[in-house]
Amino acid sequence: MRKPKIVVLGAGYGGMITTVRLQKLLSVNEAEITLVNNNSYHYQTTWLHENAAGTLHHDKTRLNIKDVIDTSKVNFVLDTVVEICGKEKCVILKNGELEYDYLVVGLGFESETFGIKGLKEHAFSIANINGARQIRDHIEYMFSRYATEKRDELLTIVVGGAGFTGIEFVAELANRVPELVHEYDLPREKVRILCVEAAPTALPGFDPELVEYAVKFLEKKGVEFRIGTAIKEATETGIIVSKDDKIEEIKAETVVWAAGVRGNSLVEESGFEAMRGRIKVDQFLRAPGHDDVFIVGDAALIFNPENDRPYPPTAQIAIQEGYNLGKNLAVLVRGKGELEPFTFDNKGSVCSLGHDDGIGVVFGKKLTGWQAAFMKKIIDNRYLFLLGGPLLVLKKGKLNFF
Ligand code: FAD
Ligand code: NAD
Repeated sequence: MRKPKIVVLGAGYGGMITTVRLQKLLSVNEAEITLVNNNSYHYQTTWLHENAAGTLHHDKTRLNIKDVIDTSKVNFVLDTVVEICGKEKCVILKNGELEYDYLVVGLGFESETFGIKGLKEHAFSIANINGARQIRDHIEYMFSRYATEKRDELLTIVVGGAGFTGIEFVAELANRVPELVHEYDLPREKVRILCVEAAPTALPGFDPELVEYAVKFLEKKGVEFRIGTAIKEATETGIIVSKDDKIEEIKAETVVWAAGVRGNSLVEESGFEAMRGRIKVDQFLRAPGHDDVFIVGDAALIFNPENDRPYPPTAQIAIQEGYNLGKNLAVLVRGKGELEPFTFDNKGSVCSLGHDDGIGVVFGKKLTGWQAAFMKKIIDNRYLFLLGGPLLVLKKGKLNFF
């Protein structure tokens, strides 16, 4: 009998958890499972700000996909997805083509620049391992040039957006700066980390008391905030910002845009109806009009029934989606049992402020300081446990709790 073909696109949180669930639930004879990813490794996107600041090496963040999947059950294809052909039930890759009976799209996110002039050309973004590595190397190169050129903008780092990514990144930078100052014999007072946020507060929508804790903590470490200030343009020499209709230029050799994400544009380019790359899925994570195409992670748009607003794209929801989908695909393959609708169980959020501090709300309880940092490491290690059990936690986990 012909085995159903399940193709999973993208080895992010959603794609990896779906795959490891499938390999656990199905036997080799029940389905042909293929995972496609454009790198041989899976990375923890949630650690990329540390790689970008240089406080954590990227080899700690990534892991070889073949070390996690069971290659006797899952066929791993190292290739780039070019197009999804929903009608023909096939996927076009750079170097080939794959047919499917069930497709899982977990191609993740990209940076959203909202059409702001110059950002694509002159700003970095923290979106993958390569991007993070470039930021780290660029900052070091700029700092190394200061001794001979003495231009202050070489030591100025602008971060666009004080959302979770912006805040976590400036916190890592604040920890890295003393090391860089020492390494490149720099005057500390010349190094500037500026965080520019358009909304009237940092971390808009988050608990105000915790936001105040984070801002004060970071200011003490030398981070400057420009709140209520929107980035209007990035240029070769810095950024143009606007506050209360007043325009200002900030000269900086390093600009990192952390002010928004969207789903992978390949999804729209393949003809799926999407809002900023995110497909509004049904209760079983199916794309509208495609009973055999499932979306997980940042490419999926799901509304919170309590307030009718989309859930923010997070690793937390991507992991839960992968779990649900793995189970449902096994039901579909076997043709018996009931599909389980997806519901998001929001356990809270934790924002790190370097490796030993943070803020968060977990199970409704507010956390600050080492308790938040501790919780963040527990969350990170829990994911590794779900993915590869205790050995993976020992190999790649964050075990330096204090
Ligand atoms: P992604 O993690 O985006 O991975 C997508 C995968 O698809 C990648 O492996 C990529 O290489 C691959 N891919 C992309 N395009 C192609 C292609 N064309 N062909 C083949 N493969 C392709 N969320 C939290 O819940 N907690 C946090 O603490 C947290 N911290 C974050 C920190 C940072 C710095 C950032 C940027 C985000 C953070 N998030 C956090 C959000 C979280 O990382 C994302 O929501 C999550 O990564 C989305 O997972 P995903 O499954 O959609 O795939
Ligand atoms: P975001 O959309 O959450 O925040 C972007 C910020 O940039 C907002 O505060 C916005 O007001 C600001 N902004 C937008 N345009 C601007 C402009 N022109 N000038 C200045 N500021 C501007 O994006 P993010 O922080 O990258 O987060 C993306 C997703 O990842 C979110 O769902 C977030 O919850 C998740 N995430 C979670 C964690 C965590 O749980 N620790 C960490 C990072 C990211």
